Amino acid sequence: MGESSLISVQNVSYVYTSESGKEFGALSEVSLEVNPGEFVAVIGHNGSGKSTLAKHFNALLLPSKGDVVINGWNTKDQSRLWDVRQTVGMVFQNPDNQLVATTVEEDVAFGPENLGLPSQTIRQRVDEALAAVGMSEFASKEPHNLSGGQKQRVAIAGVIAMRPKCIVLDEPTAMLDPGGREEVMSTIRRLNKTEGISVVHITHFMDEAIDADRVIVMEAGKMVMSGTPREVFQRVDELRALHLDVPPVTMLAESLRRDGYCLPAGITQIDEMVKSLCQSS
Ligand code: ADP
Ligand code: MG
Repeated sequence: MGESSLISVQNVSYVYTSESGKEFGALSEVSLEVNPGEFVAVIGHNGSGKSTLAKHFNALLLPSKGDVVINGWNTKDQSRLWDVRQTVGMVFQNPDNQLVATTVEEDVAFGPENLGLPSQTIRQRVDEALAAVGMSEFASKEPHNLSGGQKQRVAIAGVIAMRPKCIVLDEPTAMLDPGGREEVMSTIRRLNKTEGISVVHITHFMDEAIDADRVIVMEAGKMVMSGTPREVFQRVDELRALHLDVPPVTMLAESLRRDGYCLPAGITQIDEMVKSLCQSS
């Protein structure tokens, strides 16, 4: 197990220790794999350990117990730190904290410059990364003038320019308006589908998880569910007990099922709902 997976989390527990020495267990015995090309969504309410887990994926945190292996490298192996960081790129919630340069293209060039690449290669990577997120025409603009969605796409371009095998996005749409959210989501989906980049997408918007290959649910530092969106979202009562929303289409399908309509469990898409209703009438 774990040989061919990109991210392998093996029995990981993590304990935060405060300055006063007080300990808090934020992750408990978590095991999961992310395979090349996979799109994994992670959901769970505030404080369930999602960010703590994400920080283990590129060695920002090291397990208190257990191991995290990225592309075959244990994150505890200091000598592989930069290989790990180049393999798994991180995008965070607040785009303003991630943009450092005075122009968009300088910002995207920041990572490749730190890799010590020749300037022609950097130029090429910046151009490709900006094209991949649909921001080419903003190359010479100042980041602070952009919308939230545009800023987040520039942050994603900065990560893509490092040519990672995987991007981990920790609630990247939380601070965006609906238009910005859609821009960012379609960018992430395109990078996954057309560039084959694995995605770990942490979100509290259920509709952003419904077309993932797999959904992982975190609760109190534990992974409590893992499966396809259909498998996870049909567990309506359990999700609600965890104070998680269920996608509206799934809710509607579930109420109709309970009223005796003949619908399959775990419907997450409007198309499927319509088709199933037509067949059953
Ligand atoms: P999520 O991202 O799901 O909201 P986090 O991983 O940020 O959850 O936090 C998990 C738990 O760990 C929370 O109870 C949080 O208060 C605690 N925690 C997070 N960061 C620290 C820290 N630096 N020191 C102590 N406790 C922390
Ligand atoms: Mg978080």
